[in-house]
Amino acid sequence: MAPLSNLPDWNTLINNTVAHLSNENDGKSWILSTNGRFSVKTFYNFLNDGGLRCHKTPVILKSVCPKKINLFNWLAWDNKILTLENLAMRRCNLLQSTACVLCHAGVETADHLLLHCPFALHIWTFFGQLFGVRHWPRSLVDLWGDWRRMIPKPLIPFWDLLVRAINWNIWLERNARIFNSNCLSSVSIIMKIVRMLISWFDAAPEPKKAKLEVPVSKIKRSLEFLSPRIAEQSVLPPRPHSPGET
Ligand SMILES: [Zn+2]
Repeated sequence: MAPLSNLPDWNTLINNTVAHLSNENDGKSWILSTNGRFSVKTFYNFLNDGGLRCHKTPVILKSVCPKKINLFNWLAWDNKILTLENLAMRRCNLLQSTACVLCHAGVETADHLLLHCPFALHIWTFFGQLFGVRHWPRSLVDLWGDWRRMIPKPLIPFWDLLVRAINWNIWLERNARIFNSNCLSSVSIIMKIVRMLISWFDAAPEPKKAKLEVPVSKIKRSLEFLSPRIAEQSVLPPRPHSPGET
């Protein structure tokens, strides 16, 4: 037991634990808003999420791209997309394998498919070289956390869109290989990403457009470089049919 001399002074204890009272009249304060005033918006938000808020959700779900793509990126960040590994964990992977369909070398986790797969890395490297970004996120959590904070501030609105487009197009390509036996090269996917970004830019409201103008003009110029390479590579041969497939 500590000696009495080590106990805090009684007045210090009181000052730290008891609310300071004043002669002012008591007032009501709404704890869900920062200014203490009631608003329907804060109450509605509280009813929606029960006060359990995810600090990343507003960042990932708010963007000028289609909502389904925001939602996909949010699910990917939370490792809730139906990768072969997640399907196997739920015991409903009909492919009987968790090997990545893009490289056939690693297990198809969300991090592998969208970040670490050689196919994905080729795409990331292209845009990284274009914008001078040399370090890649270690995981999807890192992508929306520490790695995002390393991007130069003026480029964050553009990279937020680019990341969404990269993830979405890799996912579409993965699905096309599994369900349609269609295979596009990584250069073709880069081309799709660039066109998608340009279409989002064209549809964006003016204030957001101003922040995207410089990087978007840069990727528009990259189309001149990509088009001849697409013509050279064209479409890769389709995946061979497995026994039993018609
Ligand atoms: Zn892979």
